[in-house]
Amino acid sequence: MVRLILFGPPGAGKGTQAEALAQTWQIPHISTGSILRLAVATQTELGTKAQAHMDSGELVPDQLVIAMIPERLKQEDAQVGWILDGFPRNVAQAHALDALLQQMDQAFDLLVNLEVPDNILVARMLNRGRGDDDETVVRRRLEVYRAQTAPLIDFYRDRQQLVNIDGNMESKAVTAAIKNVVAQYGD
Ligand code: AMP
Repeated sequence: MVRLILFGPPGAGKGTQAEALAQTWQIPHISTGSILRLAVATQTELGTKAQAHMDSGELVPDQLVIAMIPERLKQEDAQVGWILDGFPRNVAQAHALDALLQQMDQAFDLLVNLEVPDNILVARMLNRGRGDDDETVVRRRLEVYRAQTAPLIDFYRDRQQLVNIDGNMESKAVTAAIKNVVAQYGD
């Protein structure tokens, strides 16, 4: 049973790593960004409300994102573990996650913080060519990360739930490093 939060700036490789680890451990990869992109593509009410925020590189309002999580964590496939990618992204979301996990009588094992230098992040995001990846939006997403999301590093470090991993290695080496800290945690 693994419950892991993958944390880090946009472009750090959270999605790629989450995908690989979810395969290995046969647990769901829960990406709020992917859920939101699907909602936008299928023009649901959530998608309609989220789109402008996503297109400009801002965070989608907390009440919309926070509401997605209990629904997802309560599904059958998430009872054997999960990897959260892209949530929580600010202090309010971190508190909401605490409250939810407590209510579900669960806890996450670790929060893995993928560290990657800014210049590499920008290059990676511009390379993947997603709709919200033009240069202005990319820079805004990084600013939003620094201002609203990065403060969570101290929040989780104080609670000794944070592990830093160098995300600027070959993808397979990053996956191996994450598996290694999770294995140590289990001992
Ligand atoms: P991501 O795929 O995680 O980079 O997310 C893409 C976009 O979706 C972000 O730039 C935000 O606009 C939105 N988003 C994803 N997760 C969250 C979240 N936890 N809180 C607010 N907005 C989010």
